[in-house]
Amino acid sequence: MGPQPLLLTSHQMLQLSTSVQYVKGIGPRLAELLAAKDIQTLDDLLHYLPFRYEDRLNPRGIAELRAGEMATVIAEVRTSGLFRTRRMPIFQMTAGQGRTRLKCIWFNAAYLQDKFKPGQIVALYGKVEEDYRKGELQLTQPQFEIIGDASEGGSTADSAEQKLAASLEIGRIVPIYESAGQGRLTSRWFRRIIHIALENLPPDLPDPIPPVVRRHLSLISPREALQKVHWPEPGESIQDLQSSRTPAHVRLIFEELFFVELGLELKRREQKAQTGIAFQLDDRVRVAIKKILPFHPTGAQKRALKEIASDMEKPFPMRRLLQGDVGSGKTIVAFEAAIIAMENGYQAALMAPTEILAQQHYFSARRILESAGYRVVLLTGSMEDDRKRETRRHISQGNAQLVIGTHALIEQKVEFAKLGMVIVDEQHRFGVLQRFRLMKKSTEDHVGTGDSPVQPEPDVLVMTATPIPRTLALTLYGDLDVSVIDEMPPGRTPIVTRCVSDERSPEVWDFVRKQVAAGHQVYVVYPVIEENEETELKAAMKMYRELSKRIFPDLRVAVLHGRMEPDLKEQVMRLFQKGDLDILVATTVIEVGVDVANATMMVIEHAERFGLAQLHQLRGRIGRGAAKSYCVLMTGGKVSEDGERRLDAMVRTNDGFQIAELDLELRGPGEFFGTRQAGMPSFQVADLIRDRQLLEAAKIEAAAVLAGPNKEITQPEIDEALRHMRTRWHKSYGLVEVG
Ligand code: ADP
Ligand code: MG
Repeated sequence: MGPQPLLLTSHQMLQLSTSVQYVKGIGPRLAELLAAKDIQTLDDLLHYLPFRYEDRLNPRGIAELRAGEMATVIAEVRTSGLFRTRRMPIFQMTAGQGRTRLKCIWFNAAYLQDKFKPGQIVALYGKVEEDYRKGELQLTQPQFEIIGDASEGGSTADSAEQKLAASLEIGRIVPIYESAGQGRLTSRWFRRIIHIALENLPPDLPDPIPPVVRRHLSLISPREALQKVHWPEPGESIQDLQSSRTPAHVRLIFEELFFVELGLELKRREQKAQTGIAFQLDDRVRVAIKKILPFHPTGAQKRALKEIASDMEKPFPMRRLLQGDVGSGKTIVAFEAAIIAMENGYQAALMAPTEILAQQHYFSARRILESAGYRVVLLTGSMEDDRKRETRRHISQGNAQLVIGTHALIEQKVEFAKLGMVIVDEQHRFGVLQRFRLMKKSTEDHVGTGDSPVQPEPDVLVMTATPIPRTLALTLYGDLDVSVIDEMPPGRTPIVTRCVSDERSPEVWDFVRKQVAAGHQVYVVYPVIEENEETELKAAMKMYRELSKRIFPDLRVAVLHGRMEPDLKEQVMRLFQKGDLDILVATTVIEVGVDVANATMMVIEHAERFGLAQLHQLRGRIGRGAAKSYCVLMTGGKVSEDGERRLDAMVRTNDGFQIAELDLELRGPGEFFGTRQAGMPSFQVADLIRDRQLLEAAKIEAAAVLAGPNKEITQPEIDEALRHMRTRWHKSYGLVEVG
């Protein structure tokens, strides 16, 4: 017998945990390329799912093609060549079935020049179009695969290889994979490797999902799912395959989501099991809260406070997320919660993502709380050492009741005398995993000194301005309870948003002048994106000089940017807040900046460069008073298609939830939640948007499992599921500990 380069003998069974380089045909070099795609083990490889399937079971005859449809055609290469037109090189190939012929063309495709040889069998997939000059049908830019290649394997080609090729490439529903390794690992390569891997996998794999859950969702076995997701059976619906809704897909997707939810659910249970503080909520506390309120809370604010207060009364630690669009009034709710803690003799800490936001909270706290007799301090990194030391002393001696600072508060060891409440204002910068670390730290590092007896865990309230659709929030923040403020304070008039090219800036400046003449104030925002901070800051300063010297020499114009000294920033913010400035030219620091009801207009320069969420956050700075507010999105230069859609969404709606949905769609869940920086779980096979319903189901099942053992589920089954969950979490999220 000749060599069998692609087949293993049956005694070399592989395990899911085996490194991919032990699969015949991979080896260390290709394994490295795979590692770049996060494919390390056989398990990873088998979860590299096809992004598309081709029905080559019933490929189309050329004669029966119709213009406008997508079709798979298997045919033989007849002629091919590159034609240079005046505008671009066009590659043309003619394929035939018997006497019928089909023309295929690719634009700008000089690289195809030596690709095809007469006699090769190719599978082509693409759109059937009519050549308008000749009235013939053709495939335009089809995807293709050479499936019978005389030159392949050269002299070592043997019949086993050819048979394998024949059986994998035609006469079935064929999986199409995204290529990797700069095109070196083709779809075809993946198909073979995965085929080999599956052939050498034991016929049975343990199922980590408890039997009761499998029954509830009618899940097929993992072995069957892996087999069928790559090699669908002939009767499988192509539509279900393309939309990831076959039983095989559902099984794999659900499994991934289930173990994420199981970890979150366990985390939540553990938090609940710890000793917390049972705050008293009597009339005295209620009166204290009422006293500080500068306005009537909205129904949504009342509901949120009620949920928070009820958590605080319970003897275990609160872990609650307060979600509400910009301007929905989260701050006052946080202050109310802080009062409950302070009235019970505890300290509260409020942490913000930036110094400016910390300062903003500090100003509001001084206005609202200090006047009622509470002692509030600000602690930030940029304060002078002496003041920092002094402030720390106040905190450790318990003189300071509410401590406001940046998240750096938790990095530096700040000792509290008696910390009862931690409020994290995360805006949209933190994800679930990062928060695990944050909370752990906030509770471990802050409570008393090492030699004191066991301290109860403080309550934690996380505020976020990312409007995530509610079901998604519930599942994603599975470790937290969620309160939503879904109502805006009364008396707001909707913001009118317009998008114009900066060629029309004179008109815009005229309008700015009118607003100022009417006694209002205006923000002009200029993007400074971290990567180009230096050059962009220069551009922003130039803009500022232009506005202050040339366009509005008679108005009071100031500038605010992230590089300014904190004292100066504070001064500028104060002036604007007091109405002593007409126009504030700012970089994006303003996103989380001052709250000025008299500011009725915002001009955002180069709006096309901002993300949708950021534009929405920025716009949230205006429309805070009763006067009509205007947001002008100015574009400078060419706007991409996605850019157009972002700007269009801003013009169309003020609703943060709608904007979030679109943002999610445009950026994909990874980017939206900031997977990389913010530590959102990233998924191999699941898609948070497409698979929302499975996510819901996974959450429910995970909770039911942890409620056991009972007549549905035994303790060993639960233990097995937990063991598996820990292995997965450890592998995917490393540092985070669960259970
Ligand atoms: P965010 O949720 O973005 O943190 P804030 O807490 O800063 O929103 O509130 C936005 C503005 O609305 C603030 O000026 C605040 O004083 C005001 N506000 C909040 N709640 C109410 C209310 N119930 N009635 C009137 N104004 C309110
Ligand atoms: Mg806020």
